Amino acid sequence: AGKMFLPQVVKSARVMKQAVAYLMPYIEAEKQEGETRSAGKVLMATVKGDVHDIGKNIVGVVLQCNNFEVIDLGVMVPASTIIQTAQEKQVDIIGLSGLITPSLDEMVHIAGELSRQGLKFPLMIGGATTSRAHTAVKIDPQYAHPSVYVKDASRAVSVAAKLLGAESAANADDSREEYERVRQQRAARQDRGRLIPFAESQANRFEAEWTQARLPRPALLDVQDDIPGLRRSESAYGHTVYALDDYSLEELREFIDWTPFFHAWELSGGYPRILDDPEKGPHARELFADAQSMLDTLITEKWLTARAVFGFFPANSRQESIDVYDAEGKQTVLQLHHLRQQNQRPAGKANQCLADWIAPASSGQLDYIGGFAVTTGVGIEEHVARFEAQHDDYNAIMLKVLADRLAEAFAERLHQRVRTEFWAYNTDEQLDNAELIRETYRGIRPAPGYPACPDHTEKASLWKLLRADSEAGISITESFAMLPAASVSGWYFAHPESRYFAVGQIDEDQLQAYARVKQMPLEEARRWLAPNLRS
Ligand code: SAH
Repeated sequence: AGKMFLPQVVKSARVMKQAVAYLMPYIEAEKQEGETRSAGKVLMATVKGDVHDIGKNIVGVVLQCNNFEVIDLGVMVPASTIIQTAQEKQVDIIGLSGLITPSLDEMVHIAGELSRQGLKFPLMIGGATTSRAHTAVKIDPQYAHPSVYVKDASRAVSVAAKLLGAESAANADDSREEYERVRQQRAARQDRGRLIPFAESQANRFEAEWTQARLPRPALLDVQDDIPGLRRSESAYGHTVYALDDYSLEELREFIDWTPFFHAWELSGGYPRILDDPEKGPHARELFADAQSMLDTLITEKWLTARAVFGFFPANSRQESIDVYDAEGKQTVLQLHHLRQQNQRPAGKANQCLADWIAPASSGQLDYIGGFAVTTGVGIEEHVARFEAQHDDYNAIMLKVLADRLAEAFAERLHQRVRTEFWAYNTDEQLDNAELIRETYRGIRPAPGYPACPDHTEKASLWKLLRADSEAGISITESFAMLPAASVSGWYFAHPESRYFAVGQIDEDQLQAYARVKQMPLEEARRWLAPNLRS
């Protein structure tokens, strides 16, 4: 009835599951042949190439609390496994989940495969980058059977019930009509939002000034002495990279941004205000106390290891690309590629591209770009498995949510140390955690796959520069998701005017130019950039 908050539901599931586990032998003994009482059987999976499962696990628990039987295939599940299992176990619904943009395409692929094989399992679609528009525009046309977008866990039960109930055919017709409306609205919007020719957007670039103050040489490059906790090593192209092997979680906990923590538990509202919310306050407080107590334990008992690697690389920009030089700043060893906003900008506003904040070679000045990757997920699996074995989804999910928070906190803390100690262009910066969270400081750390640099494949270059696998224990999947899931990576830009922005929609001319400079087959580039292309 929507009268409970998610943390309560998940906590009560623990009691329910432990009780069921106790009763199961007796239930099995008494059960009549063929008798089942579940509301329906749902297969859940995080799609191939993606590793994020907090949302999927929450949906699974909520469905189980409502008498659905859930078969959870875990993460990185190939289409063939999903389809085969659905057939073997004769499930009623397939639930697909994913967090990163390449997963959107994988979901379309799965819908296409179901069609090709003439199957008709209803689909539930969920996860951070999925949307009603994506389901309507990309998935629904691939598949003659219902595919329904599930905005959050609280909707999962009503969606599943609608898909299976007596009215399911009528409901499917309704959702078809709704998706048709979404498609038409979107098409109409796209006609209005004009894109300009790529060459015109290039001419309207942001023109930065390249005075020496804007191009500080990273201080760490000139330090030869040992720095406590910092391990130097040489990367693939001879640059020095810096690793932090076992960073203090006690220190990182002070840098946690708690608002997204409550969001993960579907308690919306900013921290600390939410603690005093008349309705949500008591639940938020209880959840927060549970989080603090788990943090205490996980720090004392060292459940997680925090590792990081970062580096500073001599570079100049060239149009939308960034030439990274060898350690001496002479030969180009690698090119990074970026996209430029191509929409008609308001008067006086540039068509932005991240490369514009790196000095072009024509300025005659050498610039630097930084890169980093951090994780706080090393060691997590064993503890998640322990909770799951105890039917304790609440603590399993809590641990994953906290590991994610610590990873973001690590990214924030490392960025602060980069500004004040390592690149040291802001040595007298003094900001409290609220100011850090608002990112009021000089410089940005855009993450590949996110709006200013939406191409996930650029992580391949970041990994080559940092050797994040061997130096920090972070690997990348075929869709460029990072493993452990509690990891954050990105570029450092130090330019005083650098800001986050969204590239948004780009046109065919830019796609072609991008594929050309990146030397990537056009159709492959089209696939990776699908979220930024018009459909
Ligand atoms: N305090 C937040 C920080 C994460 S969101 C938390 O704990 O969850 C902010 C981060 O997301 C930025 O530091 C940057 O790494 C990334 N980001 C935000 N906007 C971006 C954009 N437009 N393009 C690329 N990365 C972006």
